[in-house]
Amino acid sequence: MSDQSPLKLLCVTAHPDDECFGFGGALMLAAERGIETYAICFTDGQAATNRGTAVTPAELGRLRREEFAASCKVLGVKRHEVLDYQDGQLEFADFSKAAALLVERIRAYRPNVVITFGGDGAMNTHADHSMVSFFTTAAFQWAAQAKRFPTLGPIHSADRLYYATSSFFFPGRPAPLPAPWTVTLDTSRVQQRKFEAFRAHTTQLPLMVRFQGFFEQRASQEHYMLAATPNPQPAAHTTDLFAGL
Ligand SMILES: [Zn+2]
Repeated sequence: MSDQSPLKLLCVTAHPDDECFGFGGALMLAAERGIETYAICFTDGQAATNRGTAVTPAELGRLRREEFAASCKVLGVKRHEVLDYQDGQLEFADFSKAAALLVERIRAYRPNVVITFGGDGAMNTHADHSMVSFFTTAAFQWAAQAKRFPTLGPIHSADRLYYATSSFFFPGRPAPLPAPWTVTLDTSRVQQRKFEAFRAHTTQLPLMVRFQGFFEQRASQEHYMLAATPNPQPAAHTTDLFAGL
């Protein structure tokens, strides 16, 4: 570690439940090591197919904000935030404004490592996931540039941006075009807690029932691709998002 301050991990997602399905292993492994973890979710998931007891979209959004908070607690996330974007509409959002929201938070939290989706939109090819990848990619770069958003705090150059990627596809769904991975995380030790975090998403439990067997076979690993770093280097395979930091 280069100084006395703790290492920090920022995870940027689109919907409540992405944080556990997509990134739960990375968040828990980091928290276990004393790394401070932060989670930002762009929408409150009002457009979900599974709606629990909610009658109105706003009600579902309120429930899912609570579920996100409960899941983040299981995952050991230090600070979590749901932004006010509309579920299913991120491709129509103002790009510069969305990136600026993230620039402001990257400069405030000052993470070493940022994790988010790849442009493929993850295993279900959701356009919101792709857009979060594009917003975060821009914000990672722009947070480090003094000419960008000079009123949004002192610049911060994070050490690494990683995209989540996958070694397998959802059965019966159109296949994404995933990035090759440069990091394989062994998440077997925390995989039961990953399911516990997902169970905090009460409104989404039908998904859990449907895919539990599938995920149990594959929950022992998460894959990431190193997408950006201040240090020019050839791609190399590692087993730690924080190797060498
Ligand atoms: Zn999602």
